[in-house]
Amino acid sequence: MKVIIVGGGLSGLTTSYLLSKKNIQVTVLEASSRLGGRIQTIKGSLDTPLELGATWFSDMHQNLINFIDTLGLKKYPQFSKGTSLFQTKSFEPPQKFFVPEAENPSYRLAGGTQTLIDALVNSIPSENIKLNTGVVSIKEIENEIVVETIHGECFHADKVILCLPPQLIHSKIKFSPLLPENIIQILPTVQTWMAGAIKFVLEFERPFWREKGYSGMLYSHAGIVVEMYDHTNVEENKFGFTGFLNGGASSYSQDVRKELVLRQLTELLGEDILNFNYYTDKIWTDEFVLNGNQIIQRPHQNNGHPLLQKSYMNDKVHFAGTESATEFSGYMEGAIISALKIADIFK
Ligand SMILES: Cc1cc2nc3c(=O)[nH]c(=O)nc-3n(C[C@H](O)[C@H](O)[C@H](O)COP(=O)(O)OP(=O)(O)OC[C@H]3O[C@@H](n4cnc5c(N)ncnc54)[C@H](O)[C@@H]3O)c2cc1C
Repeated sequence: MKVIIVGGGLSGLTTSYLLSKKNIQVTVLEASSRLGGRIQTIKGSLDTPLELGATWFSDMHQNLINFIDTLGLKKYPQFSKGTSLFQTKSFEPPQKFFVPEAENPSYRLAGGTQTLIDALVNSIPSENIKLNTGVVSIKEIENEIVVETIHGECFHADKVILCLPPQLIHSKIKFSPLLPENIIQILPTVQTWMAGAIKFVLEFERPFWREKGYSGMLYSHAGIVVEMYDHTNVEENKFGFTGFLNGGASSYSQDVRKELVLRQLTELLGEDILNFNYYTDKIWTDEFVLNGNQIIQRPHQNNGHPLLQKSYMNDKVHFAGTESATEFSGYMEGAIISALKIADIFK
């Protein structure tokens, strides 16, 4: 049996890992030049792992945690000791608060979330992963499926698993014969979780905020940074922050965003901020996550929709991807749940 996985994010690679374990031949077709999708760990100039995408998980995410254990990876709790700040108004001093040591902490992955992607990739022969290979059409021809890529290359398979956001399936892939009208209507209305988010990272040689008794945690209604956390590595020898910027900041240039971030943080944590080694941010609106503006009325709209649980083209086309999961949809846990569910179809 030949299976094509469309999308090399967490769900696509987990599905490939699980099917490879069942001795099923998989080919992963990934549109962008890298694997990981909404997981993207970069290194700062001091080599600190910095997360531009997915970062945290908790004990509720049992399937993800089991996977992390099976792959021999290590998790560690998010640092939160010390004074945290809540900025309600730009002209008032921030409120200070302390986060009690949580019974259910948020965890991070030692080495960065990308280590999960790297571990999964190791289980798939490299010739079976094709980067820069966006899928543009899926045709059912007699008893097989023909998947055509942006370069006009055709791949033949017995089954295709769609491991990408439903909105992109709708906008990027033509189906022949057409999918049923009810699923065509649903696909563009499924929210792609975190699409449009702006994440920033800052790297430092010293954790000066910890030395001053700050946790590095900040919530703000008053500045460009709306949420921020300490981003020290597991060995506690590389330091930084990560967090989210106000959605409106996408209209500024990166230089202006950086200047506004540094200004806000200098006011709150002092001039030490200006000794940063590295800054970058990422606006998650590129063609690999989103197609135009999302028109969404509520969070997780139509995530895990019943029509995403069905198969199409005579049981040859299946939906996976975190947005298809009926639990923890949108999160890494949802991506793993969707992969486990699909892998179960194959005996
Ligand atoms: C800024 C941000 C922060 C986040 N924080 C957290 C967090 O802290 N905790 C958490 O649990 N989750 C978080 N998430 C969500 C988490 O990243 C996702 O749930 C998970 O990574 C989704 O995996 P996926 O494989 O379903 O989809 P994706 O990661 O979106 O993978 C889909 C893949 O398909 C590819 N693709 C697109 N179009 C095509 C095409 N036509 N042909 C072939 N390939 C295509 C894409 O390039 C991509 O690689 C965050 C996401 C973002 C963006």
